[in-house]
Amino acid sequence: MSIVTNKELLDRAKAGHYAVAAFNTNNLEYIQAILTAAADLKSPVIVEAAKSEIDYMDGNVFVAIVSILADKLAIPVGIHLDHGPTYEETIRCLSYGFKSVMYDGSALPLAENIAITKEVVRAAHACGVSVEGEVGVIGQAADGPEGKANDMIGIANPGECERFVKESGVDCFAAAIGNAHGIYKRKPELRYDVLAEIEKKTGVPLVLHGGTGIPEEDLRKAINMGVSKINFSTVMRKGGIEVLAETLKKNPGDWDLMKMLTPTKEKMIEIAKQHIIMCMSDHKA
Ligand SMILES: [Zn+2]
Repeated sequence: MSIVTNKELLDRAKAGHYAVAAFNTNNLEYIQAILTAAADLKSPVIVEAAKSEIDYMDGNVFVAIVSILADKLAIPVGIHLDHGPTYEETIRCLSYGFKSVMYDGSALPLAENIAITKEVVRAAHACGVSVEGEVGVIGQAADGPEGKANDMIGIANPGECERFVKESGVDCFAAAIGNAHGIYKRKPELRYDVLAEIEKKTGVPLVLHGGTGIPEEDLRKAINMGVSKINFSTVMRKGGIEVLAETLKKNPGDWDLMKMLTPTKEKMIEIAKQHIIMCMSDHKA
């Protein structure tokens, strides 16, 4: 099946009460693992990359690999830019062939975030590309001082979310509701009251960042309240690296890179499957 926009994937997910898992990625084995897991489970999936990952792989190469591999599968696949840092970096991804981009102006004053996001929406929609925005800074759990991780976690203002969606025209957006990137130092406490109010005021599919480490029952509750895309990055990298380290330790002096990377890829397939099932998107392709 061909590559589709995130708008198409998320509108269907919201109506069907499941979420589409979006996995960050930056190399061939990683992309193969994500697509294999999704195809085995007959699930839609989003393959995404942040600026550093695009710089590492090259945007054109990234889109070409995902497109060629996805073309052979009977599942819909999204290609998405995660956390576009500037207007220019975000728009550049349209030239690579991304079908969805995120512009993250959450650190800016709201009016400025809206103004730039609106311009991104205008350019992206002209190219048939969907746009994700962000309101309320989603922090880094791992960067928080010991035992005070939640101090780094912001909570979005539902009134600001309503204004942001209405004025910018985004197709979906990420709001900080007690989630954070990285490894949570203690169990994350999602603010379901804020989530409910945001959903009521905006009506567009919501995106949950920092999916790694949020318990399954919490993810499912958030999905039932309107979360339609969940980002997972740390969990795949951590699982993959741990297996790679073990494989290298068990096979000293073996220079067969394919043999060394195969168990890593298998582990990533397993992790991706677990998270797709948590998102309840299996057999929804
Ligand atoms: Zn994020």
